[in-house]
Amino acid sequence: MRALVVRAVDAPLRVEEIELPAPGPDEVRVSVRAAGVCHSDLSMVDGTLAPPYPLVLGHEAAGVVLAVGDAVTRVAPGAHVVLNWAPPCRSCWYCGRDEPWLCERTGSPSAPRGRTSAGEALHVTLGLGALAEEVVVPQAAVIGVPAELPFEAAALLGCAVLTGVGAVRRTAGVAPGESVAVIGLGGVGLSVVAAARAAGADQVLAVDVSPAKAELAVAAGATDFLLADETLSRAVRERTAGRGVDHALECVGRSATIRTAWRATRRGGQVTVVGMGAKDDIVGLGALDIFHSARTLRSSVYGSSDPDRDVPELARAVLDGTLDLGYLITDRTTLDGAPEAFARMSRGEGARTVILPAP
Ligand SMILES: [Zn+2]
Ligand SMILES: [Zn+2]
Repeated sequence: MRALVVRAVDAPLRVEEIELPAPGPDEVRVSVRAAGVCHSDLSMVDGTLAPPYPLVLGHEAAGVVLAVGDAVTRVAPGAHVVLNWAPPCRSCWYCGRDEPWLCERTGSPSAPRGRTSAGEALHVTLGLGALAEEVVVPQAAVIGVPAELPFEAAALLGCAVLTGVGAVRRTAGVAPGESVAVIGLGGVGLSVVAAARAAGADQVLAVDVSPAKAELAVAAGATDFLLADETLSRAVRERTAGRGVDHALECVGRSATIRTAWRATRRGGQVTVVGMGAKDDIVGLGALDIFHSARTLRSSVYGSSDPDRDVPELARAVLDGTLDLGYLITDRTTLDGAPEAFARMSRGEGARTVILPAP
């Protein structure tokens, strides 16, 4: 079978023949029908993270179960599933506190699985490696969804949408009538924009460095589009009676944009970091500013969500028409088109590209 493989930091991405093991007793084999190209995949390539190589990319996907191990009870062959890149163990201290997104046994950026056609040991992104024709994963990493849910929408529920909607509803707790700024308008940022409007925010100020994102932002529900330049702080204050927004959600993962989000927020407001940054990118904040501004700074890991509970709920919302994801998908291509999709993402173009890998 074929998969998108990277062999070193900044090396060209190539579609290669790989071999996956047969599913173990607790594992399932899934035919991937749609997979999103997410910014965290770029972090596996551009040196932000340091995973072992060769590595199969991809962690946002949906497909059909082909085969299951003897001990699998969650799904049967033929089931339509969304892949979960952080399946909680349900037994650690955090899982016991109902905070499965902080599970002590998940979150590793890669896992060893399978071999290349030359026999080299292979690793897969976030335990999945979903930019591939098939994956073999633990049963805990699949979530059943209705067969009538389109695969493209189902794929996005597994990362961008769960993260974006969860950040607004569960982490930040945006309330009706509040004002929200969203910094960075990739797939996650646009999901945050839509979720903030759905939560009843009066003002959703969408911010990006690229003017080409204005149309996408408005389609997702933004009330204003603002360019991330030196006039941004003033532009935010002009729209919020001089105070700043109640909530700023940072969807980039850089110290500069975290400071931008901090400055855009009113005294006593909340800054939620949704983007995953690099460990040597240090955020500088003044000690007096921290005290005087009385702001809260927190992060949202996987949308503070429980995917087993929240993915089926989001699937129902897509099917009953209350959650529209049409604005999120701006490109579709095959596995062979995936390297160009990564190039578009690193140039900041479009929202999500969905890869349709099945031959
Ligand atoms: Zn992702
Ligand atoms: Zn756990």
